[in-house]
Amino acid sequence: MDDALCTDRGGQSCGTCRFWKRAAGDDPRGSWGQCRRMPPTVPEVGDDKLVHVGVWPHTDVADWCGEWNAP
Ligand code: SF4
Repeated sequence: MDDALCTDRGGQSCGTCRFWKRAAGDDPRGSWGQCRRMPPTVPEVGDDKLVHVGVWPHTDVADWCGEWNAP
């Protein structure tokens, strides 16, 4: 694969994507956040005494994927 295709995405990264939400409570300069492109998933948990919560993918500000969308 062409390295230029891997590294030059014209500023398209999670940090510039409309679906990205910086992690609450984090330092505003922190690099982690949640991808809200899709609804959260609920992991299977074998213990019915545990509370089930949805989970969004956590990504770094510099990560990217093919679903990037302008803010
Ligand atoms: S993983 Fe893709 S859709 Fe989700 S925030 Fe990053 S670039 Fe956007």
